[in-house]
Amino acid sequence: MNFPLHEIARKFSFDGVAGDIAPVGDGLINDTFLVKTGEGTPYYILQRKNRHIFTNVPAMMENIHKVTTHLKKKIEEAGGDPAREALTLVPTREGRLFYRDDEGEFWTACLFVGETVSYDAARSPGLAFQGGRGIGRFQALLSDMPGSLAETLPGFHDMRFRFKQWDEAVAGDAAGRKAGVPTEIAWIEERREEMLAFREKVERGDIPTRVTHNDTKISNILFDRAGEALCVIDLDTVLSGSCLNDYGDAIRSYANTGLEDDEDPDRVSLDLCIFEAYTRGYLSEAAGFLTRAEREGLAFAARYITFEQVLRFLMDYLDGDTYYKVKYPAHNLTRARAQFRLLRCMEERYGEMQATVGRLLGDGETILNHHV
Ligand code: ATP
Ligand code: MG
Repeated sequence: MNFPLHEIARKFSFDGVAGDIAPVGDGLINDTFLVKTGEGTPYYILQRKNRHIFTNVPAMMENIHKVTTHLKKKIEEAGGDPAREALTLVPTREGRLFYRDDEGEFWTACLFVGETVSYDAARSPGLAFQGGRGIGRFQALLSDMPGSLAETLPGFHDMRFRFKQWDEAVAGDAAGRKAGVPTEIAWIEERREEMLAFREKVERGDIPTRVTHNDTKISNILFDRAGEALCVIDLDTVLSGSCLNDYGDAIRSYANTGLEDDEDPDRVSLDLCIFEAYTRGYLSEAAGFLTRAEREGLAFAARYITFEQVLRFLMDYLDGDTYYKVKYPAHNLTRARAQFRLLRCMEERYGEMQATVGRLLGDGETILNHHV
């Protein structure tokens, strides 16, 4: 699509005059552009937000504003560089957090954080450590943010809500595919109780609700030239929730030896080395604020989030592929099977995962003996 990018850029209170504006990254959700300006003025990121996925962009931008304001305050107090270590939203000339064009599209802007490196996979333990550090620090800085965030993605990581959707999908059998997947449906049912029991801890408040990122893949962290995690980006999904979700989802994506939609499940397994490295990095920043219940829930959180993904892919398969984009008719089923293989690996190696977390926390006994 052709957008009048220079006209849109002029709506924002940028320093300098927008010169070259070109697409950047290969984001799946939004359209992202780099806006170059003249000598001595900063570069900017201009983004068209996906309003089909984010149905309340104004509330989403308020959430991001709250989070970045708090981050910057904490970074400044710690003697850091708030313009590089956190996203800086740039308002419109009218002082708003977004510009809505005549087509109803939402545009937002932030400072471009230059001289950084990014990765699309954590291939080494060193990188996984840094990724864990990045998210751990992000959460630690936000652990004393007052108030809560708007629920812009209702039911996110809420297993009770997921099972409600699941029951409807199974009963409805919209695509007539149910009869072909009895084994896969049993995978979900066999785990219903333990997953709801974990969710209940959050509902009861035993596991606290904090600020969470909800898209902790490695490409959402910018690294500095020395290879240190510098800035967590892509804050569209910040929500109030359990920080275990961020940790669990990171393990799901970092420590899988195969692809999320691997057609050969034998390529999928849990890389315990990457698991340990990520956990080590995460705890180096997060150990200070995590409660006992959270520490005890870390390893299980990886199972919880991976299970949720199996459920969601299978549910979408039953629904007739209405949520996830598919490249072939059974794509969602392939994804569900590949994620299930990862879940099985986590279940088999759960004792080792618990022991690793315990060892890294320095109180192995307690965690090792805890059964969820
Ligand atoms: P995805 O859903 O794939 O994560 P997205 O559509 O949500 O992507 P972003 O992750 O926000 O988009 O941004 C896309 C890419 O643009 C990033 O991976 C990064 O390379 C670049 N980028 C975004 N914001 C900044 C920034 N403030 N400074 C430097 N680069 C940025
Ligand atoms: Mg991203």
